[in-house]
Amino acid sequence: MIDAAEVAERAGALRERLARAGGDRVKVVAVTKGFGPDAVAAAVEAGLADVGENYAQELLAKANELGIAPIDAQQPRWHFIGRLQRNKVRKIAGHVHLWQSVDRPELATEIARWAPDARVLVQVDTAGVGGRGGCPPEEAAGLVDRCREAGLAVAGLMAVGAPGPPEHARPGFRLLASQAADLGLAELSMGMTADIEVAVEEGATMVRIGTALFGPRPH
Ligand SMILES: *Cc1c(COP(=O)(O)O)cnc(C)c1O
Repeated sequence: MIDAAEVAERAGALRERLARAGGDRVKVVAVTKGFGPDAVAAAVEAGLADVGENYAQELLAKANELGIAPIDAQQPRWHFIGRLQRNKVRKIAGHVHLWQSVDRPELATEIARWAPDARVLVQVDTAGVGGRGGCPPEEAAGLVDRCREAGLAVAGLMAVGAPGPPEHARPGFRLLASQAADLGLAELSMGMTADIEVAVEEGATMVRIGTALFGPRPH
């Protein structure tokens, strides 16, 4: 069960944590995977209108339970941040505000088919650990081109930090920032509960936060 007052309190603490790291203008995406629609409602109530989901089915279930219609819904603004199979794109296309995990040309093509002009981030596996999505860094520029050719609006790059102590994430975040600069892309989605400070120091414009807002995930 989600306690909305507690989420609001944690959102305040998170804002302070971001400010201390120099990131008072960084956008927070509230990651609700593993929690129910009450987490989404609590986030929106706490002023966090950007909500991240990892699984298409979960996003749809929550949108249905909350009675949120596709496209025109302003709140929440859904960010898709998980590994995405092509056959799931059509189902969620009407709901997604920002596709953060575009990591291969086939996925870009499919998104463009069901959501022409959609805003996307290209996910890069700058940590080089594999298994969590992202294209190899040397393929990022080519994939950005492919997205644009498909008609998508590429807003920036996204990465998941290397596991382990927060400092382990720094080289990957730095690489992502330098790639975004080279490509002239403004948005840098990097940083989760454990490595927010490092991400902000390396230039994150957007952090994706679950645990620090909602506590440990149920399963
Ligand atoms: C789960 C997840 C997050 C949030 O992780 P926390 O450590 O709970 O803050 C952020 N980004 C992605 C891609 C995730 O899968």
